[in-house]
Formats: sequence, structure tokens, C-alpha cells
Amino acid sequence: MKSVLIVGAGFSGAVVAHLLALDGFNVVVADDRDHLGGNCHTYRDDASGVMVHKYGPHIFHTDDAEVWDFVNRFATFKPYVNRVKTTVGGTVYSLPVNLHTINQFFDKSFSPDQAAEFIADISEGIESPQNFEEQALAFVGSDLYEAFFKGYTKKQWGVDPVELPSSILKRLPLRFNYNDNYFAHRFQGIPEEGYTHIIEQLLDHSSIKVELGKTISRSDASDFDHVFVSGPLDAWFDYSKGELGYRTLDFEEIRAEGDFQGCAVMNYGDESVPYTRISEHKHFAPWESHDKTIAFKEYSRACGRDDIPYYPIRLVNEKAMLQKYIDLARNEKNISFIGRLGTYRYLDMDVTIREAMDAAICFIAADKKGLPVPVFFVEPL
Ligand SMILES: Cc1cc2nc3c(=O)[nH]c(=O)nc-3n(C[C@H](O)[C@H](O)[C@H](O)COP(=O)(O)OP(=O)(O)OC[C@H]3O[C@@H](n4cnc5c(N)ncnc54)[C@H](O)[C@@H]3O)c2cc1C
Repeated sequence: MKSVLIVGAGFSGAVVAHLLALDGFNVVVADDRDHLGGNCHTYRDDASGVMVHKYGPHIFHTDDAEVWDFVNRFATFKPYVNRVKTTVGGTVYSLPVNLHTINQFFDKSFSPDQAAEFIADISEGIESPQNFEEQALAFVGSDLYEAFFKGYTKKQWGVDPVELPSSILKRLPLRFNYNDNYFAHRFQGIPEEGYTHIIEQLLDHSSIKVELGKTISRSDASDFDHVFVSGPLDAWFDYSKGELGYRTLDFEEIRAEGDFQGCAVMNYGDESVPYTRISEHKHFAPWESHDKTIAFKEYSRACGRDDIPYYPIRLVNEKAMLQKYIDLARNEKNISFIGRLGTYRYLDMDVTIREAMDAAICFIAADKKGLPVPVFFVEPL
């Protein structure tokens, strides 16, 4: 029986491990953390009884019916609609910026058409926007940009919005109706028993051995017929071409009785407030009831080598460095890179799972036909 090593027990590694085990492979899954689930890890907080999303709130949303069916085999998903609020200049508004936000902000009672006309009037006539700021000004004008986009973007990415590409804002980031459902996907929910429970079940197979608290390096790879790496691409090559840029997050815990902020996520748009948002985790499980509460202030900053990488930056310099790592990876034998860290891309959970399913299917087919296995199943650039 062929043996496969999978680096990382997040959704990428767990889905590949599950499908390979079902097909008869012997699989070892190793993760350097002491728990399963990667960045989707959830645990029940002892003091409050609340299910906590350790690395920031995770809401499952997708249009991919196959992925939705797949995850529903391992969990009971409770319906959940992500409704985010933001505090700007001491006032609370609804996000994404919608008709309610516009009417409240400008103290109007516009109809959808009137609001669209008003925004068209106040937006700035910039012909070919060269950066994020110009693109936002062209779409929404300076008042909405300053209030809802500028400060938050600066805090999140640590750079002035004029240094970010205009492509970040592909479409008009406003809604001319009262729809405050953050996501536009057909399926949306949160698993009743958390995400770690799904990962546990994916890995619960007699041909899968899980090793937690174990860091895998390139020299461990030769003991296996094939290795899937869902850890960072640059770390795998000992940062020989430099460090790919990420943003990391710091979480400051808040404990209280009852209800701390009355909603799951409250953003803070003002640059003068050092954190980007506060998430109160009991509100991600409205079907539960708890007397105590736990919330987290979230701070974004540049990621050092010893920090947890969260959001890949992927600006021009990072992409040039990424190309060097892609070239190195293509010279490897019997190794594939998967997931958000292995391909240095931001991936939602549904995309992560879809790509992992496709990678496993491709690997199994290649193995049966004696064909080479791709180093990347999806092009990282
Ligand atoms: C703040 C935040 C909020 C998010 N919210 C949502 C959301 O609401 N909805 C949504 O769909 N998606 C969300 N996501 C995206 C989601 O977190 C990812 O889709 C998912 O975590 C990707 O899984 P993965 O397995 O590729 O990576 P990971 O979850 O990072 O798993 C990789 C694992 O590999 C381990 N590892 C790395 N290197 C090594 C090594 N050398 N040896 C051993 N182990 C190693 C890591 O420690 C980690 O446990 C969010 C992401 C962030 C950052």
C-alpha cells in the first residue's frame, strides 16, 4: 500500500487525507499545532460554554452544492446569516454599505433609484483609477470612502490605500437596497458542533494516522511515496528566496456577563481605533444560550517568521518572490502544494475544500495511470 504524508490538519489536509484513505492509501497527517482544524479550529470555552473560533470567526458560505453536500455529511449546519455592523465617528451603521447605511449617513430617506443617482453625483470622475483609493473615490465619493473604507483598509493592510491595487475593488461596493446579508451565496451556515468536529470525522479512518505537535520539514519527505504540503511554501524551502508577506492578527480577550455588544461582529472604521473589529462568539451560535460571554478585539499587523500567517499580501514584490518559489517547487519530486499557505492565496473554506477534493481526485487518477502528479493543482499566480 502506498504511503502519503500530509503536512497540515486544516481543511486542505483533512479532505485530501479522507479521500485518499477511502481509496486505499496509508496516510499520515502531521500538524505543528496541538490541535486539529488549522485556522478553522473551534473549541468550547470552559468558563462561558461558548463555542470559540480560535483564529477569528468563520462562517461557511458557498454556491458549490457539491461542497455543501460534502460538509453536511459530517456536521449539522445551522442556518446563519452574517450581518456585520460598523462603528464610525461614534455612530453604528450597517454593512456592507447599503441603503440603510446611505440614508443614515446622509440623513436622507432615498429610494433605491434616488440613492443610486445621488451616489453617481457625489462619486469622483476618475477615468482610469490607478490605485485602491482612486477606485473607491470613483465608485462612492470621498465622504463614504473616508468613513467606511479608508481607515479600515489602512488598519487591515498596514499600508496607505494609494499603495494598494485598484483591482481589490472590482465592483461597486454598495447596495441600493436594505439587504445586509454580508454574503451573496446560496448556502450559508455554521456547524452546530464547530469546525474541529468536522475535521475529526474526516480523519477518523483506520488508514489515517494523525500526529499533532509535529513540524515537518523537507528532509522528512523522502520516507513517503508522495507528500502534500499545506504549510507555507516559503518555509518549506527555508525562506531561501525571502519571506512571502502576510498580515497576522492579535486577539485581545474580553469577558463579560450577558451580552457584550449585541451582535457577532462590530467593525471599527476609524483609524484612531487601533483594532479592526470585535467579534462576540456566542452570537455565532444563536441557537445556544449562555449567561457569560467572550469576545475578542482583533488587531492586524505585519507577520514575522514566528507569527501565524493569516492574510497573504500578494502585492507586486510578493508576487515576484512567489514566482521564485514556484520555480523551486516545480523541481521537487513527489510533492504537491495545496491550500492557502501552500499556494499563498486567500481561500474561503468552500474553495479550500473544493480544491482539496479536486487535488485528491487528480492524485488518485494520476497514480492509477502511472502519470506524474502535479506540483500545483491550481496555479498560485
Ligand atoms: C481571520 C480569518 C477569518 C476567516 N473567515 C472565514 C469565513 O468566515 N469563511 C470562510 O469560508 N473562510 C474564512 N477564512 C478562511 C479559512 O480560514 C481558510 O479557508 C482555511 O483555514 C484554509 O485551510 P488550509 O487547510 O488550507 O490552511 P490552514 O487552516 O492554515 O491549515 C494548515 C495547517 O498546517 C500547519 N502547518 C504549517 N506548516 C507546517 C509544518 N511544517 N509541519 C506541520 N504542520 C504545519 C499549520 O499550523 C496549520 O494548522 C478566514 C480566514 C481568516 C484568516
